[in-house]
Amino acid sequence: MKQLVVLSGKGGTGKTCLTAAFAHLAATGPWAEQVVLADADVDAANLELMLRPRLLAAEEFQGGKVARIDPAACTACGICETVCRFEAIVAHDGRFAVDPIACEGCAACVHHCPEGAISMHPELAGHLYHSESRYGPLHHAGLLPGQENSGKLVALVRQRARGQALAERRELVLVDGPPGIGCPVISAVTGADLALVVAEPSVSGAHDLNRTLDTLAHFRVRALVAVNRADLRPAASDEIEARCRERGVATVGRVPFDLAVARAMVAGEPVTANEPEAAASRALREVWERVSAVLRGAA
Ligand code: SF4
Ligand code: SF4
Repeated sequence: MKQLVVLSGKGGTGKTCLTAAFAHLAATGPWAEQVVLADADVDAANLELMLRPRLLAAEEFQGGKVARIDPAACTACGICETVCRFEAIVAHDGRFAVDPIACEGCAACVHHCPEGAISMHPELAGHLYHSESRYGPLHHAGLLPGQENSGKLVALVRQRARGQALAERRELVLVDGPPGIGCPVISAVTGADLALVVAEPSVSGAHDLNRTLDTLAHFRVRALVAVNRADLRPAASDEIEARCRERGVATVGRVPFDLAVARAMVAGEPVTANEPEAAASRALREVWERVSAVLRGAA
């Protein structure tokens, strides 16, 4: 079983459109019935918009703990408000309460409350979902507004997808990873067999790409690079490919800017399914064939 993670140095590079196209191409080619999909971009999960899956199960995801004040035990001494460095204790009409969004869960107030009126409680931070899509099972998640801890949720999404792949002897876990280089990305790439980084041809895109490749090198995950909307700035695309050569990272193709991609998004379809002969679809098929060959150990 192989795990492929699709990444980008930042949001908006077309990573999820490319992942949706890969899901379609994998499920309708030699990997048919072999794929489990995972949307690990839990802060902005939108792979489902193009796969339109049928929800099978949802479960709650508990994040960190937050403080809660028992009003019956509180004598309104105000000590907790003084102790809290995060301004998470709010006083109103002589009553004290915890702002759960501001609370960092340090528990300092618990230890200082003379009445023992404060306790820590796990907070609902989001949901894990298991769905069935046209292209295979999909594991995805959603964080509630203002919630963090997405690295842990990413790890859970991947764990569920990997578990299903192993249980059903499926050969490929295809992961739509989070953008950037933070904790969720580390959760998304740890233990992956291959990462495809979607780069955009701009100065900041080259910088973002370098940071992502540094992260992958640190975690010893093999990287490939594809340039999206490459024809908008051919010189910048050349520059990205030159930098990849310097680093010994293979590039697997250029995808042109194509309004067919936007039309497919509106239709809720991968572009390769919606307009198979569009320029972007032809380029994506070539990229997928190269990535697929690397996954199969043939390149
Ligand atoms: S420290 Fe305890 S008793 Fe004092 S205001 Fe806070 S919760 Fe109430
Ligand atoms: S747990 Fe920490 S951050 Fe939360 S209210 Fe208490 S002191 Fe403030």
